[in-house]
Amino acid sequence: MGNILVNRERCKACALCTLACPKKLILFSQEANSQGFYPAELSSGEECTGCALCAEACPDVAIEVWR
Ligand code: SF4
Ligand code: SF4
Repeated sequence: MGNILVNRERCKACALCTLACPKKLILFSQEANSQGFYPAELSSGEECTGCALCAEACPDVAIEVWR
């Protein structure tokens, strides 16, 4: 079981993490950050394996993974 923490202010909503997640658990927030981007967030924490593929895909190093 895992969990991720997205740094909302670093995220530019490029969607690379959403493509990288094998379980398709990452969606976008309904609320924009201060730059006007709608940051990525985990949709269902219970299914996250902590594989960290999302964090590895993020060019802005905006995702922390917890196991
Ligand atoms: S750690 Fe793995 S399972 Fe969890 S959100 Fe990231 S890519 Fe998906
Ligand atoms: S890969 Fe990083 S910058 Fe891109 S949407 Fe995901 S968290 Fe945001």
